[in-house]
Amino acid sequence: MLKTVMIMRFFVVKSLFYLGSIFMLAIVSILFTGLITFSILPPFVQPEASLIYGNDGTIIAKIFAENRESISYNQVAPDLVAAIIATEDARFYSHRGIDFIGLLRAIIENIRTRRFAQGASSITQQLARNLYNLPMEKTIRRKLQEAWLAILLERHFSKEEILERYLNEIYLGHGTYGVEAASQLYFTKPASDLNLAEASMLAGIIRGPEIYSPRVNFERAKTRQSWVLERMVTVGAINREQADQAKDAQLTIAATPTKQTGGGYLRDIVQKTLGERLEDGATMLATAGLKIHTSIDPQAQAAAEAAAARIPVTRTDARGTPQPQIALVAIDPQTGEVRAWVGGRGTATPQFNRVVDAVRSPGSAFKPFLYITALEQGLTAAMQIECEPTTFALSTGTEWTPSDFGTKYHERPLSLREAVVLSCNVVAARLIDQLSPQAVVNTARRLGIQTPLNPVLSLALGTSETTALNMAIAFTPLANGGRTITQNVGNPILRVEDKQGRVLFETKPLLIPGALDPRVAYIMTDILRDVLTPPGTGQRASTIFPRPAAGKTGTSEDYRDAWFVGYSPTLVCAVYVGDDENLPLGGTGGGLATPVWAEFMRDAHAGLPLQNFVRPVGLDDATICQSSLLLARAECPAELRRTEIFMPGTTPTEDCSVHAPIPLFPWPWNWFRNDQETP
Ligand SMILES: [Zn+2]
Ligand SMILES: [Zn+2]
Repeated sequence: MLKTVMIMRFFVVKSLFYLGSIFMLAIVSILFTGLITFSILPPFVQPEASLIYGNDGTIIAKIFAENRESISYNQVAPDLVAAIIATEDARFYSHRGIDFIGLLRAIIENIRTRRFAQGASSITQQLARNLYNLPMEKTIRRKLQEAWLAILLERHFSKEEILERYLNEIYLGHGTYGVEAASQLYFTKPASDLNLAEASMLAGIIRGPEIYSPRVNFERAKTRQSWVLERMVTVGAINREQADQAKDAQLTIAATPTKQTGGGYLRDIVQKTLGERLEDGATMLATAGLKIHTSIDPQAQAAAEAAAARIPVTRTDARGTPQPQIALVAIDPQTGEVRAWVGGRGTATPQFNRVVDAVRSPGSAFKPFLYITALEQGLTAAMQIECEPTTFALSTGTEWTPSDFGTKYHERPLSLREAVVLSCNVVAARLIDQLSPQAVVNTARRLGIQTPLNPVLSLALGTSETTALNMAIAFTPLANGGRTITQNVGNPILRVEDKQGRVLFETKPLLIPGALDPRVAYIMTDILRDVLTPPGTGQRASTIFPRPAAGKTGTSEDYRDAWFVGYSPTLVCAVYVGDDENLPLGGTGGGLATPVWAEFMRDAHAGLPLQNFVRPVGLDDATICQSSLLLARAECPAELRRTEIFMPGTTPTEDCSVHAPIPLFPWPWNWFRNDQETP
């Protein structure tokens, strides 16, 4: 009994001391109003998320230390303001920083329950606590500090300004600060659009986001919402009918956090670029509310992420990363701008941005650079090379005998067109031997490959490793009539503004002609179009994406890396699929990348007008006979006739020598025939 009395006395004394101190403080502050210069209000900072915009002006990602987005008082639904005031500080508009009535009531309550617990902090006091990062422990010293700062805040700012700051400052759970970010998080809509049901639920979260978040426990959040609505009725903000309606209203809570487009890889590029370009760039990014305008097309980006997600996960590695992994990057060949970027899937390794960091063997996807070199040196798509076991003596003193996949050979002559479409390795090896590996290196460099290239025969089969970004960049001249990207190559960031809209830096890609003859680009494209239809190695693509498009598959040794690099006139896209630890993908390796590419292209082109590759002037069409590689005659069988495109000067001029018109003496023609079939 004695003990109880003593505890009682302790609480009364402590509470009265507290109340007295606050009163003293108030009196002192009023007495000194005219004397104190208000520059003594300590400065505070309010970190703000930087926003990443897509090329259509929509926000596609945020970078933040705390997820926050400031809005003005007028952008908050009045119901939300009313709900928060009713719940947190009903006398907000009548007190001057400290709600003495509420305080007295709280002290009585504290004495009654013998706890020095809930001090009824006004909205202004809560704001002071947040703005100055006051320690959370409930000491009298801290309370006095908070009260003093609250009084100062009231002297400096209007009620509306205080409320606006408060609305932008409060923590609302799941790393989210301020009502705008929270409104997007819970209800995927701006705070201006919240209805009474949503507003009352959000207001209820303030007192304990870990307890009252509807994402944590919907039933508890719902009970809390009812309590908030009752408070609103009590203070006269709403009537009984409105409260009941709001209680019954169906609420849809967003189940997962607002999707971070690009799985963090886009933020990774932004972070890296700003770190390089701006002093203190990384910090500014997290706190300064920068606006980062990119060339990313949200529709293409969504298509890329969806397509990447469709690759089956075969294992999860030691770091919890799903395997195989993927890199997908898409470039608009008409501007050189990056439209989509997927650096991988899963969240375990966001630092490993596979579009630029996975340096892998492109396999046969490299072959177009070889065939471009051939066309440039006067060879034609119709020319034939025999696919048969061939051994090359290498400069290292060793020998090399390339074969097609599965140690097979076509055992017949293939036209260069066929060799590309069927991805014949022997023809590629014989061709690079003829042209010189250095010539192929030069072509690949000129088109935009920046990774080291080894001038050896096996370069034709893609043994020099490179990245998905390099491949997309180097295929771009094929899609746009021979123009290469210079300046801001492969970087989606176009412009960065500070919070006030001042441009911190601005850049864009430039396309310059001359790297590739538009006619060569067109012939190569025409060949690569055949890859997408049977019997081409990428034949699965045309059924999924039936628009005009061209591309090349690539599979490295033992099916460790699967590639598809292809393009339409409006989009170039490189897809790489492979295990981070370079494990074989299994027998289906080659088939993995093609459908990803095709599904991405289909969805990225949805709604766009159909576009054909533009044929440049100065090309010749000629129908040739495959037996003689000369101009077809009426006598040449239909299955041997083929219309091919030629650079001027390379078109055959003589008629077929195999299927000559039946001469007066028919016998010699039959005798010659077999000899002439092999060129
Ligand atoms: Zn072959
Ligand atoms: Zn013929």
